[in-house]
Amino acid sequence: MTPVIHILDSHSANQIAAGEVVERPASVVKELVENALDAGAKHIDITIEGNGVPLIRVRDDGCGIAIADLPLAVIRHATSKINKIDDLDHLQTLGFRGEALPSIASVSHMEISSRPADEVAGLCLKLIGGENGEFSEVGCPVGTSVTVRNLFFNTPARLKFLKSTPTEFGLISDTIGRIALAHPDIAFSLTHPQQVVLQTSGRGDLRETIGAVLGHGIARQLIPINVQKGDWQLEGFISPPDLVRSSKQTQNFMINGRIVRSPFLGRSLEEGYHTLIPTKLHPIVVLHLHVPPSEYDVNVHPTKMDVRFRSEQALAPFISQSVYQTLIKSKPLPSYQTLR
Ligand code: ADP
Ligand code: MG
Repeated sequence: MTPVIHILDSHSANQIAAGEVVERPASVVKELVENALDAGAKHIDITIEGNGVPLIRVRDDGCGIAIADLPLAVIRHATSKINKIDDLDHLQTLGFRGEALPSIASVSHMEISSRPADEVAGLCLKLIGGENGEFSEVGCPVGTSVTVRNLFFNTPARLKFLKSTPTEFGLISDTIGRIALAHPDIAFSLTHPQQVVLQTSGRGDLRETIGAVLGHGIARQLIPINVQKGDWQLEGFISPPDLVRSSKQTQNFMINGRIVRSPFLGRSLEEGYHTLIPTKLHPIVVLHLHVPPSEYDVNVHPTKMDVRFRSEQALAPFISQSVYQTLIKSKPLPSYQTLR
């Protein structure tokens, strides 16, 4: 039989990876902002045009990319963040897969300008569909700016699947809001098209950040929570039982600064509210969970939004009890509500 197996060229491999990492404009924004956070940025400015397809720009004042590193940054599985898989057990960064930049580059016109603090000028790399890389020297402040234009220009099926501008921009703004809630010590701004639509101060005050993201009316009413047990800590804000929503949209969970989707955390939270709120209504929460990285696996999906906990059985009661006790202590509950 004639051999038929061959290794895919890097362009095709990157486009396949992009199918998982870059689902829509909001996924590009998430990856670029996470890179800025990993670079130690204090200010992160995001500019969007339309639904994100014409333009996404993320500019940070982080450490920048060394000149010799810039060509590597857009190579798949090239990362400065881990050396081996065991490093995930004490991972301090949001990224580790070395996939985002090459994936995004393969489905867009990308421009990265970056300047580390020890260089007098910056270096710019321009790519079209991840190829024909062109380098040029540019004047720029210390930090990195990544511009993504014409997203999905070479993957028409992806482009067709995108929703209306309000929906796609809504998802972008939701993503940035969640990341800002995870990092109240970083100043974020989101501009669309020439208007600042979201801005946080970066002063490190979580309630103030919640005000900027979810509205000051909500922020004022939330109850602080901070419970520690061994090396687990649950902190943030939770809504009183009479401040509820019909959707779970305003439930924000972060684990060690990473925004996550976790049905498990959602169930544990709602268990804490059990009998205090009617079924089908949901509390508003901004909950930061700090646990050693070795206690969960974030390498479940390329988007790194899903996590698998090693000890769900012990974590579930820690969360539900912490929430319940905080609610009980915050103010006396009407007697029918305390029947539990
Ligand atoms: P990962 O974040 O998983 O390492 P990426 O493809 O997102 O993979 O980025 C590749 C590398 O490029 C990163 O490991 C980092 O060294 C560098 N990099 C990307 N974005 C930035 C940035 N905004 N500032 C500094 N370095 C960056
Ligand atoms: Mg990354």
